[in-house]
Amino acid sequence: MQTQPTASHFIGGAYVEDTAGTPIDVIYPATGEVIGRVHSATPAIIDQALTSARAAQAEWAAMTGTERGRILRRAADILRARNHELSVLETYDTGKPYQETSVADATSGADALEYFGGLAASLTGEHIPLGEDWVYTRREPLGVCVGIGAWNYPTQIACWKGAPALACGNTMVFKPSETTPLCALKVAEILHEAGAPAGVYNVVQGLGDVGAALVSEPRVDKVSLTGSVPTGRKVYAAAAAEMKHVTMELGGKSPLIIFDDADLENAVSGAIMGNFYSSGQVCSNGTRVFVQSGIKEAFLARLTERLGKAVIGDPQDPETSFGPMVSARQTEIVQGYIAKGQDEGARLVTGGKRVERDGFFLEPTVFADVTDDMTIAREEIFGPVMAVLDFEDEADVMARANDTEFGLAAGVFTRDLTRAHRVAAGFEAGTCFINSYNDAPVEAPFGGVKASGVGRENSKAAIEHYSQVKSVYVRMGDVEAPF
Ligand code: NDP
Repeated sequence: MQTQPTASHFIGGAYVEDTAGTPIDVIYPATGEVIGRVHSATPAIIDQALTSARAAQAEWAAMTGTERGRILRRAADILRARNHELSVLETYDTGKPYQETSVADATSGADALEYFGGLAASLTGEHIPLGEDWVYTRREPLGVCVGIGAWNYPTQIACWKGAPALACGNTMVFKPSETTPLCALKVAEILHEAGAPAGVYNVVQGLGDVGAALVSEPRVDKVSLTGSVPTGRKVYAAAAAEMKHVTMELGGKSPLIIFDDADLENAVSGAIMGNFYSSGQVCSNGTRVFVQSGIKEAFLARLTERLGKAVIGDPQDPETSFGPMVSARQTEIVQGYIAKGQDEGARLVTGGKRVERDGFFLEPTVFADVTDDMTIAREEIFGPVMAVLDFEDEADVMARANDTEFGLAAGVFTRDLTRAHRVAAGFEAGTCFINSYNDAPVEAPFGGVKASGVGRENSKAAIEHYSQVKSVYVRMGDVEAPF
């Protein structure tokens, strides 16, 4: 497959190159080989993208919601029809197994385009009667939105941000992570092929400085970031200086509580999905697994057995179920955390080493006897490392589960229905799961509380973050002035 993109950027409905920008090598995580090269956006490219997005916005907003929606739904169809191609590319970009990318990435992106394409025509205002007078509201776009993505879901993030933004009549400049520059270009190409006018959805490549330049640009009205908490703090502060709208989808250290009445096999499946899918590089992962003491050893035994069945190998092989980390740097960061876990006295149950093959493979790793104060229980690792903590009773575990700066997600496994809902209500998290983990359907709001974020993606809730309401007061009689 051709992994070298036609050009680095997609602006004004066409691929654009400017080799003056810093070269960024695209590395296949499964081998460490360079499979392509793009160039970071120069100030001229950033200017071109913003000029293009600004120029297209009025025309795009003037179209009816039905017309915009039709284009988004057509893009969803094209994305689905090209699912294989996009999934192979996503696997090259991220190293995630094709087994995952073929069902979770372009598919989820297409769902977002279809869902918000369907909503576009129903974005209406209100009529508010006030005696003889009345107010009507108009739901209006924000203008030009900047999307900045993390590297774990490059196609999905490009669509999760683009679809609601475009449905509301905004245009977008999207900057993918420099680690995974390939997929967003395809999303831009597909939107254009579906009929989005030139400039409606643009992609520029770059390191953090390109993101920072976009965020502080006066021509940008909204910034939507998916990234780490430290980056979120910087972007939020820069956006505040210009009073821009923001959506922040940031990191987490989410709790997953398994009570002793849970269906053990199902709980093990949930813990695997919440820790080892995408080699653990998922923001909402339930990486603090609280297991009630009575079932701890049974849980660990069954988990270890199941992890032994992971097929580690070439991620393009449909049989492979566990792939590499995205980069050498991320592998080193995760290895550092594994060393810390051992130094601080956690019990290494399984894994902990690099897999002996090319690329950035790490074994699925489980620590038991983890205590709340250990580094691996407090910091986001973003790799295949699970921390298992013991607990005795519900009140104790709830206090510990919420004792974190993060609040992205949380999960509970129990057969006790009342307890399940009580626990879900008690979680300080934006996205909760009962007897499941990491489902993210486009129909449901997704996002975090506390340091994990601001705003919501997906669902009707996202519309609030990509549009604003204007009130128009209509007086039927004369104005009564005091003088
Ligand atoms: P980073 O925070 O390092 O980077 C995210 C994006 O921000 C990248 O495109 C990056 O560019 C860019 N960036 C960096 N600095 C700035 C800046 N000052 N101004 C503007 N943009 C900037 O995150 P990672 O890419 O390492 O992704 C992993 C993180 O993302 C984890 O914390 C994870 O939890 C979080 N995440 C959150 C999700 C959510 O929905 N809540 C979903 C997925 C991931 P560059 O690539 O050049 O560094």
